[in-house]
Formats: sequence, C-alpha cells, structure tokens
Amino acid sequence: MHTHIIPKLMPNWTEKFGYGKFIHLEHQDNGTANMMQGGQFFRNIEENCWDENIRISDYETFSTKVQVVCTIPVMFSYWAKPADCAALSSFLNDHIAELVQRYPKNYIGLGTIPMQDTEEAIKELERIKSIGLVGVQIGSNINDENLSEEKFFPIFEACSRLDLAVMIHPWQMMGFDAMKKYWLPWLVGMPAETSRAACSMIFGGVLERLPNLRVCFSHAGGSFLPTIGRIEHGFNCRPDLVAIDNPINPREYLGKFWVDSITHDIDALKYILNMQGSKRVCLGSDYPFPLGDLEIGKFIEESDLSHQEIEDVFSHATLEWLKLDKKAFY
Ligand SMILES: [Zn+2]
Repeated sequence: MHTHIIPKLMPNWTEKFGYGKFIHLEHQDNGTANMMQGGQFFRNIEENCWDENIRISDYETFSTKVQVVCTIPVMFSYWAKPADCAALSSFLNDHIAELVQRYPKNYIGLGTIPMQDTEEAIKELERIKSIGLVGVQIGSNINDENLSEEKFFPIFEACSRLDLAVMIHPWQMMGFDAMKKYWLPWLVGMPAETSRAACSMIFGGVLERLPNLRVCFSHAGGSFLPTIGRIEHGFNCRPDLVAIDNPINPREYLGKFWVDSITHDIDALKYILNMQGSKRVCLGSDYPFPLGDLEIGKFIEESDLSHQEIEDVFSHATLEWLKLDKKAFY
C-alpha cells in the first residue's frame, strides 16, 4: 500500500512558473534520471520510478500483484503559490489515474493536493474522486504547521465526505539541517515526523470528530506506537498541556487507524500487530527506494505469524482501508 511513482515526462515547473525549486527530471544516457530541485541535483532515480512494466515485474518477483502508488513527497510543493501547486497536483493525479485505468488489476492510485490552500485542496479532492483515485497522500506537516491546525480540518472533513482514504507520509523532517550527517533525517527525523502527525491528529481531535475518516500512517506509524506508553502517560500527568483539545486517551485510537508494515524487524512488527490488530497493518514497501522493504513482505512470509495474520497484512487490511473488493483484482 505504499509505493512511489513519478511521470517519466514532466514540464520544468520552475521555468514554467518562473520561481521556486520545483522538481523536474533530467534523463541520463544510462537510463536513470537526475531529480533536479530548481537547478540543483537532488537525487538520482532509476527506471523503476516511472516504468510501469518494470514495476509490475519487480513486484511479481515477490509474488505481489497489486501496488498502491502515490507521488514522491518532494513533489508535494506545499510551499508554492496555491494555483501552481494545484496545477502540479492535477498533472501528477492525472498521470496516476491514467495508469490505474490502463492497469486496473495492478495499480491503485492515491492523489496529492495543495494543502497550503484549503479551498484549492478540496477542489482537487473532488476531482481526484471523479478520476478514480481512492485516496490522497498528505505530508506529516504543512510548511511546518501541524495537521491539528483548524484550517486543515475542512480538508479531512472533505476526505471523509468523499470517502477518500488518507495516507500520512513523513517529509520536510524536523531538525533536518541540524542532523544531516549519517542520514539522520531519514533514520531519526522520519519516524518522529510520523509520530508528530499522529499525535497532532489525535490531540487535535481530527480522528475524534471524523470517526469514518480512514487514515494510514507510514512506516508502521513511525515512533508513535513504540512510544504510546510515554504519550499516554503525558496525557494523564499533564492534561493541562496535552488534553486541551480532545479529552480522549490517545490509546483509545489504537486499531482505529491503519499503519503499514515497514519495520524491517519481525519483533517490531509483532508489537505493532499487537497494538493495532492484523486488520490495521497493511503490507507496505516504500518501493522503489532503498530504505523500503524491497523484498515485499518476505520477512513476514517467513515468520511464525499465523496464516490469518499474514493474509490480513498482505491484503485484507489494505482492502479495508481503501474500501476495495479483492475480486476486482482477480
Ligand atoms: Zn514512502
């Protein structure tokens, strides 16, 4: 339920809009492409980032037929002018919708929306629904503002109304500049970002006010579930700081949202399953990026988890999160 894709061909948005550091691709002779942020090199990516057939056969290697695709978080562009971000988001969403139309048994699509402008975001959500995407991917913070901010609530409300699933993905990691060495933004910052998002949505009452909103947190919920004891204790010992917008104990929400299985550690996954129940842990890969579970659930298949738990993680949890029927993929 967690893979990233980008169109092979895109406009040079920075030139088109005349400002900013939008991402564009510079294709290389060796078949790879450099992701350029404005004029600066960001990272080198391979064909599996855009080639739908390579992606399908890579997945087949690990007996996996269907992948939920969404954009690469650096494409969110929440910092841009709303109309420009809306245009960029529409372009990316149309690309994914068209892919899903061509390969309905292999691809499921999540869109992206201009979170910096509530009205534009809701407009694009409505369009996303009309072009056949089943949900939306949202960053863990929006220009450093937390998802508990009231201005984001109508967006979540629209997701609930339109019956669109929400995936929360860490990005623009807190402390990035202070810990560039050792890949710490990815190893330390990302799990913290996801916990920041989960705590914000719980303490801000988003999950409480929208009980039908189907939210999935990336990377097994980051550090949220492993530190739930601390979070709950904080809620109990300092309600004056923590329980100011929602009086419900954060532990009450376990099993009400979804997380993916990307833990790289069977004991960690068992702990997550214990917290969430197997219907709330979806097989995630973060394909095609190196920090992902690129053997697509092999460590789960080889574990001593029950057949039922494995079946739940491998398909039922994701199908339930996205309200899809397994038969559609036979
Ligand atoms: Zn990811």
